[in-house]
Amino acid sequence: MTAQLPAEFADFVLSQETLAPYTRLKIGGPAELLAIPRSRDELSAVVGYSRHQNLPLRVLGTGSNILVSDEGVKGIIIRLTGQAFTSVVVESKTVRAGAGAALSALISQAARSALGGLELLIGIPGTVGGAVRCNAGDRSGEIGQFVRRIEVVEGSGDVQVREQDELRFAYRWSNIEEPVLLSAEFELEADRPEAIVKRMRKAWIQRKAAQPLSFQAAVRLFKDPRGHSAAALIEQAGLAGTRVGGAELSERDANAVVADTGATARDVLRLIELMKSRVRERFGVDLELQITVW
Ligand SMILES: Cc1cc2nc3c(=O)[nH]c(=O)nc-3n(C[C@H](O)[C@H](O)[C@H](O)COP(=O)(O)OP(=O)(O)OC[C@H]3O[C@@H](n4cnc5c(N)ncnc54)[C@H](O)[C@@H]3O)c2cc1C
Repeated sequence: MTAQLPAEFADFVLSQETLAPYTRLKIGGPAELLAIPRSRDELSAVVGYSRHQNLPLRVLGTGSNILVSDEGVKGIIIRLTGQAFTSVVVESKTVRAGAGAALSALISQAARSALGGLELLIGIPGTVGGAVRCNAGDRSGEIGQFVRRIEVVEGSGDVQVREQDELRFAYRWSNIEEPVLLSAEFELEADRPEAIVKRMRKAWIQRKAAQPLSFQAAVRLFKDPRGHSAAALIEQAGLAGTRVGGAELSERDANAVVADTGATARDVLRLIELMKSRVRERFGVDLELQITVW
């Protein structure tokens, strides 16, 4: 049972709010508390409160890499959708973006300023915070390689700066453990706008051709095991198009699940178990989840 909420939280903290609409899969039960702070002070206050009350705290970006369970989530979920967290500012070769900004906004702002590098990530859904935390990317590049410094909110509610030399990025992983990533600064290369736009167009076409259709509620489930493509293993195991309840594997990407209206997290979890066991039996490979299950 949550303690009495401080009165000053009434304007930006909701109780028992269903998370499904805020996620890519449109699946999932309620958050015990959903906080949508409007300022850094409100954010710090809610982070400090979670520590004081011993409540788990997580940030939800666009939920492109998350499956929320049907039962919902204990503790506090934070969304950084307010203006205080979504600005993108260019200064010489540096772009500073709030963690709640769309990754696409960061990429297009950089391209408009004739700064190259991030355009290769076009078409990856999500926020800047989610992308940096998960080191989003693919074989063409990863966002971590451009990060120069970040701002985080620690468990106490204090804001701290982490410099490049303290940050580590690996395949779909970073060492950012603080509860909230607040903003990130990227160092990019000046380039000709036409060259950037050409690379961006190519990356967009390649990525969109391999993704579920954009109107579909879908997420990619597994990391690529070393030396393999998860989608290829799943396809070779004969699972493409498999359906459990309202959850179905995408015809365009066998590693992506598409949720129809009425699909539940339980359907997706059963599909995940089926995929893991079939791929293990067939190829002796243990698939590791890319999505986080809440
Ligand atoms: C169709 C499709 C294609 C995709 N293609 C790719 C791809 O090519 N490459 C790739 O790397 N990924 C890909 N993804 C996965 C997803 O787009 C990325 O992981 C993306 O970065 C997630 O961003 P998000 O804002 O939705 O984060 P969420 O899914 O909301 O969150 C992901 C994780 O980051 C944490 N988080 C988010 N924001 C913050 C913050 N501000 N502070 C602290 N923690 C935070 C969350 O708590 C969670 O643990 C794809 C997903 C889909 C649906």
